[in-house]
Amino acid sequence: MECIFCKIIAGKIPAAKIYEDRNVFAFLDIAPVNPGHILVIPKLHYETIPDTPPELLQKTMLVVRNLGDRVMNKLPCDGFNIICNNKPASGQAVPHVHFHIIPRHQGDGLHLHPPGKKYVEGTLEQVRRKLASTVRV
Ligand code: 5GP
Ligand code: ZN
Repeated sequence: MECIFCKIIAGKIPAAKIYEDRNVFAFLDIAPVNPGHILVIPKLHYETIPDTPPELLQKTMLVVRNLGDRVMNKLPCDGFNIICNNKPASGQAVPHVHFHIIPRHQGDGLHLHPPGKKYVEGTLEQVRRKLASTVRV
């Protein structure tokens, strides 16, 4: 078992647990963007969101929802971000799908929105056609 998050779930390396049930585990990030930065993970190892079975993803997201609420109510914070990096190109360092809950403070200096790029003339519609689907999810 190489995955660091699988080792945390198995109790082989310590973590500051926030929540646990049959399917989902949540703990404090060891290097928080702000104090109270939580990671929420399914107990089974999947790399990305699309790899994760829908029901397990739903269960994980319900925990994200509840802990987001708890962060807002129990910490001195003005908001929070949910971030899930998928694949190394996005910044995913640990290949076990995880949701960051990052408490935010007004004016805390963290900028997650770089300046947006512009579509080259005509390419917006090409991209839209590639991504648009009639398949119901
Ligand atoms: P990623 O960059 O993959 O989206 O985020 C991985 C996160 O896991 C990072 O924020 C990092 O600080 C956290 N992390 C990595 N190793 C450990 C660890 O051993 N324990 C805890 N609690 N967090 C970890
Ligand atoms: Zn894992």
